[in-house]
Amino acid sequence: MSEIVTRFAPSPTGFLHIGGARTALFNWLYAKAKGGRMLLRIEDTDRQRSTKEAIDAILEGLSWIGIDWDGEVIYQFARAERHRAAVEEMLARGNAYPCFATPAELDEMRELARKEGRPPRYDGRWRDRDPSEFPTDRKPVIRLKAPQDGVTVIEDMVQGTVTFPNKDLDDLVLLRSDGTPTYMLAVVVDDHDMGVTNIIRGDDHLTNAARQTQIYRALDWDVPAMAHIPLIHGPDGAKLSKRHGALGVDAYRDLGYLPEALRNYLVRLGWSHGDQELFSTAEMIEYFDLDRVGRSAARFDFQKLENLNGQYMRAASDTDLLAAVEALMPHLPDGAARVARFTPERRAQLLMAMPGLKERAKTLIELLDNAEFLFAERPLPVEEKAAALLTAEARGHLTALLPALEAANWTQEATEAAVRAYAQETGVKLGAVAQPLRAALTGRTTSPPIFDVLIVLGRDESLARLRDQAA
Ligand code: GLU
Repeated sequence: MSEIVTRFAPSPTGFLHIGGARTALFNWLYAKAKGGRMLLRIEDTDRQRSTKEAIDAILEGLSWIGIDWDGEVIYQFARAERHRAAVEEMLARGNAYPCFATPAELDEMRELARKEGRPPRYDGRWRDRDPSEFPTDRKPVIRLKAPQDGVTVIEDMVQGTVTFPNKDLDDLVLLRSDGTPTYMLAVVVDDHDMGVTNIIRGDDHLTNAARQTQIYRALDWDVPAMAHIPLIHGPDGAKLSKRHGALGVDAYRDLGYLPEALRNYLVRLGWSHGDQELFSTAEMIEYFDLDRVGRSAARFDFQKLENLNGQYMRAASDTDLLAAVEALMPHLPDGAARVARFTPERRAQLLMAMPGLKERAKTLIELLDNAEFLFAERPLPVEEKAAALLTAEARGHLTALLPALEAANWTQEATEAAVRAYAQETGVKLGAVAQPLRAALTGRTTSPPIFDVLIVLGRDESLARLRDQAA
């Protein structure tokens, strides 16, 4: 069997859409699973939208999520000459023809179709004309001479056999009157020239697949195998849209998801391997195949993504998490300020606090929020609920406890022993001392274990924060 070649062919829209990321992932996995290659083609024919920023956003999104491609990036716009040459070939074969219908005539055709309750179709009026009839005062578009009878069949690896009656597919435009190639043409010529063997993309392209198949046939080219994967829907069952929240992978990054977790989440959107939920990259590659891609739309479930992310965070090494947090910081709204206060000392503290922090957070944002006590400056802002814990009695405990802590060796064991001894001597519950300690040290009612907090903050800062709140 020949080598499998897949491709991801995004149009630059300013971000890597979450559905696009999943399409890229499936192409990447299929190529890897079959020992083939995945190519990247940027469909930049819309010159307005195809800015450098929009293209970079896609490339960055792919590398963030850990998807690479083989060879150079291919840019569709740069290949326009080649697209035109393919049309010359179709003209020479008699499989395409110039059409001189005016915009007004096309409007009439549409209007008539509407009145008769038919979908708007070009009526083929220039299909079989003699060149002697061609007007000289205007430039034609070039249309495909599509088959008018019979059917065009797609043997789709996900959708099964899909049949399109040819009467429903009119003679589509290949070249516009200004000589620019249409999208439908460019995709076919590029996929052919790139040696693509397998087209894997969203099922919103299924009708295009029929039209593109007709172009392949007109050029006498092999039609690649196709797999149209169901689109991603929102939790409410409607097609995923802005309304459902974050759309680009960069938005998920900024929400504090780990790329590995998002990737793992995406692979399960439409594909399954038994009921396994967690996959290492090696496992994804080993198990991935298109026969396990379902035909019904996958629903995006934020809760599930969050849980998965939490699992990835707990499993990550402290240093990897630190690196992820550091990479995220500049992207946050107050990024510059965050980066500025992330001194080597704070960095070391955050690393030290990581084991306690990662147990309690499902996203990096949550983790940073829980680590806020490390960065806070005295006098420490105290949340309302935490302030409520600092009653006169609680402050009294802090005051009474201070000398023992001041005298203690600054280790977890020694500080814990001092607090426990105090509780025992005074006959109060450990919690009655530990909760005010937490409130005074972190300004919160929840935090990593309080004796971790004492050590991470260090002796001087801890004692100072306690003195601030002591009676
Ligand atoms: N550029 C198209 C898109 O972003 C994909 C084309 C294709 O995969 O054939 O939707």
